[in-house]
Parts: sequence; C-alpha cells; structure tokens
Amino acid sequence: MDLIFFGMQGAGKGTLGKAVAQEFNLEIFETGGELRKLANEDSELAKKVKSIIEAGHLVPNEVVMEIVENFMENINSEKGILFDGIPRKVVQAESLNKLLSKHSREYKAVLINISEETALERLTTRRICKKCKHVYPSDFNGEHCTVIQENGEKCNGELITRSDDNIQSIKNRIDAFKNETIPAIELYSDKLIKIDGEPSISEVREITIETLKPIM
Ligand code: AMP
Repeated sequence: MDLIFFGMQGAGKGTLGKAVAQEFNLEIFETGGELRKLANEDSELAKKVKSIIEAGHLVPNEVVMEIVENFMENINSEKGILFDGIPRKVVQAESLNKLLSKHSREYKAVLINISEETALERLTTRRICKKCKHVYPSDFNGEHCTVIQENGEKCNGELITRSDDNIQSIKNRIDAFKNETIPAIELYSDKLIKIDGEPSISEVREITIETLKPIM
C-alpha cells in the first residue's frame, strides 16, 4: 500500500512521513528534497529550479514528474512508497494517478491538518540541520543536531534557517497550498484519512501510526 501524504507547510509532514515509513517499511519519495538535490547541480535547469524554490513557487510539472517516474522505476516494486510533497496541484495529481495505475499500485491519501496560524508560527521559528536536514522546532535550544546516525555517532550538523523559510516565501507556499493543493486533495476524497496535526509532533506521530495500522 502506498501513502500520499498531504499537509500545509509546517504540519510536520516530513517528520511524520519518516516515522510512518520506518514503521511500515516504506520507501519515501520526498519531493522538496529531490528538487533541492537537483538545484545543487551545475546546470541551467538547476539554477532555474533553485530560484523557483527560494521564491516559494512551484517547480514546473514536467521536471517533478520526470524525477518521480525515475524514482518509481528504480525502487524495489514489492515495497510501498510514501509520497511526501506530491501532488501539489490538480494536474500533478492527474499525472501521478496515471503513473500509479501504470505500475498497478494501491494507495491511500493522508492529510495532516493544521491552521494557517500554526503553519506560520512553526515555519518562522523552525531550524533544520545543515547536514541531515532534520527539522527542529522553536523550543529546541541547542545549536547542533542530536540525531544519532546509522554508525551510532551523533550527526552534530549546524542548525540553520532554511533559505526558503523567509516570510514572503512562506506566504507564497501557504497560498499555493490553499489555492492549488487543496483542490488536488479533493480528488482523493474517497481515499482520504484526516489527522489533526495541532498536538505535539510525538502525539501526532502516535495517532497517525495507530490510525494507519489497520490498512497497512
Ligand atoms: P518542501 O520541502 O516540500 O517545502 O518543498 C520545497 C520547495 O520545493 C517548494 O516550495 C517548491 O518550490 C518545490 N516543490 C516541492 N514539491 C513540489 C511539487 N510537487 N511540485 C512543484 N514544486 C515542488
């Protein structure tokens, strides 16, 4: 079973996605992360993608679909996929659904619901690890990442503000969610599982995993 994860920026979608993927042994397709990797390459396309991301606008559909298609063709087809950050608009939902049917994949959609005020508050105060990209909320006081890596050592990367977590970009991303992603989510109404994302991240993690257990 694949899961399509939706949530306004700041809903904790990335962190929850990782926990859910680990619990149910899923591969994650993290759209923003894949696009940031592409933006760091040395090409004209990379420059274009980088400036779009920093402004908080959406990267053209063809670019995103090429990356997701490539990902689906190269993973172990026995494993479920957790899609984080795709689709973000109706045309992408249509392309993704076609791709899912082509690969005969079964899927459900999950929406982590938070208010716009919560999103703004969380995004303007969060920091991420420069090295492993783990997200830290405003009440974390340290300056370095405490994630324990696979080799048993602490990551220790510097905590920084993400370059697109500036107020204008945040507002653009929230507007894009309201105007473009909500209509896409409506296409999944018969497959949609809604989770309240307002409680603390650990509570939301527990509720999400318990809610998904019967279908996974
Ligand atoms: P995120 O890490 O999910 O906040 O995404 C960071 C940025 O990557 C977004 O603000 C967009 O510029 C771009 N992006 C992520 N997912 C998509 C998508 N599905 N379609 C187009 N652009 C995207």
